[in-house]
Amino acid sequence: SKRISVGVIGSGNWGTAIAKICGENAEAHPELFHPQVHMWMYEENVEYHGENRKLTEVFNSTHENIKYLKGVQCPSNVYANPDIRDVGARSDVLVWVLPHQFVVRVCDQLKGHLKKDAVAISCIKGVSVNSDRVRLFSDIIHERTGMYCGVLSGANIASEVAKEKFCETTIGYDPDNSVNPLYTPNTIRSLFNRPYFRVQMVKDVPGVALGGALKNIVAVAAGIIDGLELGDNTKSAIMRIGLSEMQKFGAMFFDCDRLTMSEESCGIADLITTCLGGRNRKCAVAFVKTGKPMHILEKELLNGQKLQGAATAKEVHEFLEHQNKVDEFPLFKAVYDIVFKNLPPNKLLEAI
Ligand code: NAD
Ligand code: 13P
Repeated sequence: SKRISVGVIGSGNWGTAIAKICGENAEAHPELFHPQVHMWMYEENVEYHGENRKLTEVFNSTHENIKYLKGVQCPSNVYANPDIRDVGARSDVLVWVLPHQFVVRVCDQLKGHLKKDAVAISCIKGVSVNSDRVRLFSDIIHERTGMYCGVLSGANIASEVAKEKFCETTIGYDPDNSVNPLYTPNTIRSLFNRPYFRVQMVKDVPGVALGGALKNIVAVAAGIIDGLELGDNTKSAIMRIGLSEMQKFGAMFFDCDRLTMSEESCGIADLITTCLGGRNRKCAVAFVKTGKPMHILEKELLNGQKLQGAATAKEVHEFLEHQNKVDEFPLFKAVYDIVFKNLPPNKLLEAI
């Protein structure tokens, strides 16, 4: 029977960790998957042993992404491919893992270079807003490429997953009959499940996508609390209030199941891990301590990795304004006002 070719779009911190997982599973399930996994790498030059080299060349000779996932060895069947169209054309399952600001451009580049019945899994955490609509990246990928798109999201800080420290994740996957029957939920699970990466399959695709996007706003608030050194009780209060705004948003605009947020890894667990150890939290602490704007701190602290929380706070705010619902989401509003409107961080608690 036909073996499934897997491609990964993106090779940042999480992109590389996900490609590692897919590579391991392609090897573990040779009856299901083609042995080689192509990972699209946005090409850039890096310094390697005092020489200026291409990141793809260094990866393909060392199997390490020295810029975005230093110190982690990927399996040798993961191949860094700088040609996005070639990755698109050869893949039956395309896994999308890139910062959300680049998705639309990449969809357009792939037009006409995809297999007819390919499916997608989005690991992207964010939402897209234009004027009065809020949209999930799984929907954007579907609309722009024609592929059915499920969503993987969970409490998954990339550096920890890459070191094979145990965690759980959630995959929302609920295709209709028009999707090739080869791509069953079990097959999709086999592509990602590892002894250290436990996959739970659910049908609430929007709930999975929204949990990962909205918790990034709450993580900025948690970082503000840490920057102010207010302690764990206050931070827990922020997490609880944040979770209830996430549930409210999901129910109001997407008909999500509240239980997805309160019981699955993509909801409560991701919220907790990101508020404890994520990049959004880290930059928000520095925002309070230094007063520098977020986009500067992103450059100074993350070595090319991208922040999603500030952008998501802005996008969600813009959407809520159009809906005339800003006041129903005081925590989301306070984060927006602090990051973009000069509200002093120590006004956060008053505002909520
Ligand atoms: P990242 O933050 O490491 O971003 C860097 C990546 O962006 C690099 O691969 C870089 O080549 C690429 N890039 C830079 N400029 C580009 C351009 N013009 N066009 C295309 N690509 C460009 O990325 P990441 O950590 O892999 O995050 C991807 C998604 O996964 C995000 O939505 C993020 O929220 C989510 N996520 C991240 C983590 C984590 O711990 N890092 C965990 C779970 C989910
Ligand atoms: P940060 O982008 O804040 O690091 O969050 C990573 C994440 O999504 C963990 O699940």
